[in-house]
Amino acid sequence: MALPGPPPLGTAMLPPNTYAGQVVVVTGGGTGLGRAMAVEFARLGAAVVVASRKPDHRQMGCRAVEQVGGTALGVALDVRDADAVAAMFDTVERDLAPVDVVINNAAGNFPVPAAKMSPGAWRSVVDIVLTGSFLCSREFAARAIARGAAGAVLNIGATYSWTGGPGTAHSAAAKAGVTNLTQSLAVEWAPRGIRVNCLAPGKFPHDDLPEVLRARSTPEQDATRIPGGRVGQPHELGWAATYLCSPYAAYLTGHTLVLDGANWLRRSLTMPEFIPIEQQLPEG
Ligand code: NAP
Repeated sequence: MALPGPPPLGTAMLPPNTYAGQVVVVTGGGTGLGRAMAVEFARLGAAVVVASRKPDHRQMGCRAVEQVGGTALGVALDVRDADAVAAMFDTVERDLAPVDVVINNAAGNFPVPAAKMSPGAWRSVVDIVLTGSFLCSREFAARAIARGAAGAVLNIGATYSWTGGPGTAHSAAAKAGVTNLTQSLAVEWAPRGIRVNCLAPGKFPHDDLPEVLRARSTPEQDATRIPGGRVGQPHELGWAATYLCSPYAAYLTGHTLVLDGANWLRRSLTMPEFIPIEQQLPEG
């Protein structure tokens, strides 16, 4: 028997006005899990900023937020660029209000064996995931501290923070940095009323993933490959995000919450045959 499925998409987990009057920025909020989180914040009354590079992605995120009756603002952003991050906050303050919550969700990832990973590929992923999370958190905190406001940062991590993993040297190292950064910032900013947490998703397939990263498994296979017997549903992640940034988690900071059906903890008494990464990935 698998872990039971969650209540259906559309069910609110917190009181409907939990985020009324608040502005929530979701980097990479136009696709996949970022969009799912944006929608759950909107459902609870937040005005949501969808910040990413591609106009069509931002449009998809804004449309999803508006479909649940929320207010959405799309802002062009490359999280690697400190000036662009500052400009994004300026735009949001001008068009909406100062930001209350930042979700550092933007990421890049493409599996490649470490020996074939170009320095550019390494830098690109580390810059988006780790440096981008730092730049957005720093800009947010500097502004919140200057105006004496409380707030919350949520970094999106990954469970290979602790294990590493084949084909993901760049992303796993960057996510490990994000988990660690969460703890440093939580301690520095708690006296300023700013909480910093991290949410590490397990396997959450969705249609926006590139083919190479999409779940190459059937529900029947997932039932036997994941201890919890199923993959995660994106709105489950949205609920966790809305809880972690809400007043109901007011004493919770510096924490990484794993949502993965116990998948990263699985071991076998006898491990399956080991297949080198070069043989797991298609040539090129
Ligand atoms: P996704 O669909 O590929 O979304 C990534 C988003 O990041 C895109 O919307 C992209 O938008 C944005 N982005 C990329 N580079 C950016 C940059 N330089 N500046 C601003 N935005 C940028 O990925 P996802 O599956 O939803 O994953 C969301 C988060 O969950 C990521 O942090 C990922 O590592 C984590 N995660 C996902 C899974 C999973 O099973 N899906 C598992 C573990 C962890 P633009 O192209 O418009 O910039």
